[in-house]
Amino acid sequence: MYECPNCGQNLKFDIARQQMHCDYCDTVMDPYAITEKHTAREVMDPAYTGATDENGKAKPVETMQVHIYTCPQCGGEIVGDVNEAMVFCSFCGASTPLNERMTSIRRPEIIIPFQKTKEDCAREYKKLLNKAMFAPKELKDPKNISGFRAIYMPYWVYDFTRNAAITYSGKHCYHRGNYDYTDHYKVTTNISMEYNGVNYDASSSFSDNLSQAISPYEAKAAKPFTTAFMSGFYADTMDVEPSVYEKEAKDIVCDHAADIVMQNQRSRAYTVEKDSVKRAIDPKTNKSILAMFPVWFMSYKTTDKKGKERVLYSVINGQTGKAAADIPVDLRKYLIGSLILAIPLFIVFNLFLQFRPMILAIAAAAISILCMISLGAQASQIAAKEMGSDDAGLSSINKRNKEYKQALKTREKWEAKSIWKANAIFFFVPLVLCALLVLIKPVQDYYYYVAVIISGVCDCFMLTDIMRRYNKLASRPLPQFKKKGGDDSANINGNI
Ligand SMILES: [Zn+2]
Ligand SMILES: [Zn+2]
Repeated sequence: MYECPNCGQNLKFDIARQQMHCDYCDTVMDPYAITEKHTAREVMDPAYTGATDENGKAKPVETMQVHIYTCPQCGGEIVGDVNEAMVFCSFCGASTPLNERMTSIRRPEIIIPFQKTKEDCAREYKKLLNKAMFAPKELKDPKNISGFRAIYMPYWVYDFTRNAAITYSGKHCYHRGNYDYTDHYKVTTNISMEYNGVNYDASSSFSDNLSQAISPYEAKAAKPFTTAFMSGFYADTMDVEPSVYEKEAKDIVCDHAADIVMQNQRSRAYTVEKDSVKRAIDPKTNKSILAMFPVWFMSYKTTDKKGKERVLYSVINGQTGKAAADIPVDLRKYLIGSLILAIPLFIVFNLFLQFRPMILAIAAAAISILCMISLGAQASQIAAKEMGSDDAGLSSINKRNKEYKQALKTREKWEAKSIWKANAIFFFVPLVLCALLVLIKPVQDYYYYVAVIISGVCDCFMLTDIMRRYNKLASRPLPQFKKKGGDDSANINGNI
């Protein structure tokens, strides 16, 4: 904590003022006027692949001493300079005192201080939920909003440059007489490009789909880091190496630059292939900078049908106010909503089409096939989410584990089997009934209607199962972070 020079109480960073502020005597101070309480210590640690010089040798990085809190339930770690006991965990939602210890972590180089206050955050969260028609009403409980925590998330910020003459290939195809001709060109262009601030989250506990949903951050607004900005706030620790996202960042930059290069080539006689331009651009990564970006973070605990605990995350960009959340669908609300929508649709369709019973039976069978296809697609998505392989950062850590890939495959099979077991009968009954009607062609309409009603009920069961699995995708299993130990945790922060 930072003592107020006037009264000795705790000085905190105040979002509305963008200054350090004392709640007791109203003293206001510039964050840079405060000297860091822990003098940074330079260390040489080859485990930091992020900090290498031009020759690929490990460069010294600065570290800082922080209070780190560990959740006894999930092993999640969070840094806090908050001067109070932590009574709940933001990752798994457990209400339990967290264990505190001092440790040193890599000191970030830049920070975007929080711009959005908790009131802004509450407003954005409400706006988001108002748009979600079928959201369970518990989520809208204002009590939840108090659970939002201001957390600085670690990000890798990449800079790319290339100033050179690049060469790529172009061609011109034409037809003359009985022959096809292709002229090949070698094109050389001078480029001078500079991309700054391409960023990716550097924490495996902050999942990619959430960080993407609240992106972008305006990295240009970042300020030189000083620990005063963290006073009264939390922070997540960096545990994903910068190399994990570097390729993706490079690809985005190349893609954009290639478009510009190609625009300039448009009036030429030849055509240029984008891939060839992208390969030629091949920019240099100047550096990857560790940054702290502001996120309002909330977790909400729920239980699934089998009584297993799940967690829902809501996040809000602390710079722009962009909000994203895991929002499941309330099945009862959804069914009632669909019914209300189905009645006018049915009336409208009836005005234009005559529903013949045979067509209805075929439609029911077709719906059943569509449901099965959609369920099948969910199997691998669910497996990926449950196993964390949809997060590049987390899977870069998991992939070090040999058994992980095997486990992911097993899990996919298991999900597919569970879908099949739950739906096989509802899938086959409409198909069999439809086939019987086509083959026998009974005279009385009565048979058709009974078949259609039975098929319709089967389709409803499948649709409900799709929604149930959608809800599984909209929530997360309780996280289990591996405790430190073993060779892989050679990072200074030991957050693997
Ligand atoms: Zn004071
Ligand atoms: Zn926890």
